[in-house]
Amino acid sequence: MLAGCVYTCIDPQPMTWLRRKDLEELELQHLAPGAALSRQHGGRRIEEEEDPLRTAFQRDRDRIIHSTAFRRLQHKTQVFTAHTGDHFRSRMTHSLEVSQMARNTAIALRLNPDLAEAVALAHDLGHPPFGHVGESMLNELVADEGGFRHNAQGSRIVDLLEDRDGKEGGLNLTTTVRRSLLKGVIPEGFPLSPDLLPRPAPPVEAVIVDLCDKVAYLSHDLDDGLRAGLLQVDDVKTLALWQQAESRVGTERVAQIHSEIVAILVQDLVESSVVPHGPDADITTRPVIQHSDAITVRSQELLAFLRDRFYQSKRILDDMEVGRAKIRHQFAHLMDNPEQIPDTMRRRGRGSSARRLVCDYLAGMTDRFLMSQ
Ligand code: MG
Repeated sequence: MLAGCVYTCIDPQPMTWLRRKDLEELELQHLAPGAALSRQHGGRRIEEEEDPLRTAFQRDRDRIIHSTAFRRLQHKTQVFTAHTGDHFRSRMTHSLEVSQMARNTAIALRLNPDLAEAVALAHDLGHPPFGHVGESMLNELVADEGGFRHNAQGSRIVDLLEDRDGKEGGLNLTTTVRRSLLKGVIPEGFPLSPDLLPRPAPPVEAVIVDLCDKVAYLSHDLDDGLRAGLLQVDDVKTLALWQQAESRVGTERVAQIHSEIVAILVQDLVESSVVPHGPDADITTRPVIQHSDAITVRSQELLAFLRDRFYQSKRILDDMEVGRAKIRHQFAHLMDNPEQIPDTMRRRGRGSSARRLVCDYLAGMTDRFLMSQ
């Protein structure tokens, strides 16, 4: 957390423990004017007393980690279906990688690392089984009722489908974190909580998470593709980013080159972003979070390569086709047999249409649970 990076230089009494109010004070002293402050978290839907030790964003992060939806991410597809192998990324390890990158980037830019961490851990909570194929299948199946997209579904999960204390308030996260989860496209008419409409601009920490999401999947998908033998080193050597990393580490060892690619992308993100801070900073200027033009071009080259050679490879497409067919079949089955949807699910989703309820239930399933149905 924030104190971990700065408290040694500001705490006048090193033996004193830090309370939430001290951490909030540290945020005020050390974060840039454009950072989100946990003290100004925008409230919770159900009012609560603040925690004595943790800031509001740290508390949100902990609720996300303890949620059922977060635990399910370990059995959800990143690129390989979750039952393919023990060493490939799952949605959970992907989320952990994003969180670590977003946290470090936020610290370097004097933005709020606790907010970045919470948002990163939650950014894929709404992913259905079988990744983007599952997402597009569900989007088709509920197209007439606001469609489906994982970021919108994440918001529905934290607001409605998780029930931490039986009060039907979801995880009761802060408004700042809830707004951050809406970064990206939301289908017209998707049933979001009304207090999130119209959608305001997300805090700048959400933009960091969005870019670190890309850094994470570009780098780890390259690594997973090589590990699986679907990509060949001789081919990836043609990529400018690979060549840059290889020349920096001076070895052909794949693990080191992969690690260097992450370092190049994160360092570039920090060095190319503009976050005014210091006594003369213009507090009306919104920070700009961005990569350099050169790295943007190299990242696009890597993405095009992965799309062509990895995401569209026969082995991946065959697996995904199985998932797509299973979701379509199970959707129809549950529409005909709604009594098979658990009572808790029906209670939390009450007021929703039958199709939305089936969609919520299916989206929450892990790959292996879906395949066992
Ligand atoms: Mg992601």
